Amino acid sequence: MTTIFYLTAVLLHYISIELGVSIGPHRLWSHRSYKARTPARILLMIAQTLGGQFTIYAWAWKHRVHHKWSDTDADPHNTLRGFFFVHIGWTMRQPHPEFYAKARTLDHSDLMADPVVYYQEKYYYIVSSAGKFSGI
Ligand SMILES: [Zn+2]
Repeated sequence: MTTIFYLTAVLLHYISIELGVSIGPHRLWSHRSYKARTPARILLMIAQTLGGQFTIYAWAWKHRVHHKWSDTDADPHNTLRGFFFVHIGWTMRQPHPEFYAKARTLDHSDLMADPVVYYQEKYYYIVSSAGKFSGI
């Protein structure tokens, strides 16, 4: 029973990170590397929500700024701020003010034009909290 529990946990973690982050917010919504139909986008949105890395909108918005202004103060994962900051520290601190200044200059309207992204943004905290309390 314990082995099945751990294997299930590893599988859910893999799905939430690989589907929910790498394939969804990263390749689909940030880079527009491919197109996906609504059922696939909904599946990716659910996996991303399980991943617990904030909303698709927030993830893609930050990621676009990261690529556009890599290794500057506008980059939320600026490698010049050190190893710890790049891997973990950036999640614990507010971005540099330059991040917000540059982020405002990018057009992110395509993200909210996607109803899957829009409704996840609108109900993210309700859905993600329900998942936490239900043991998901
Ligand atoms: Zn990228």
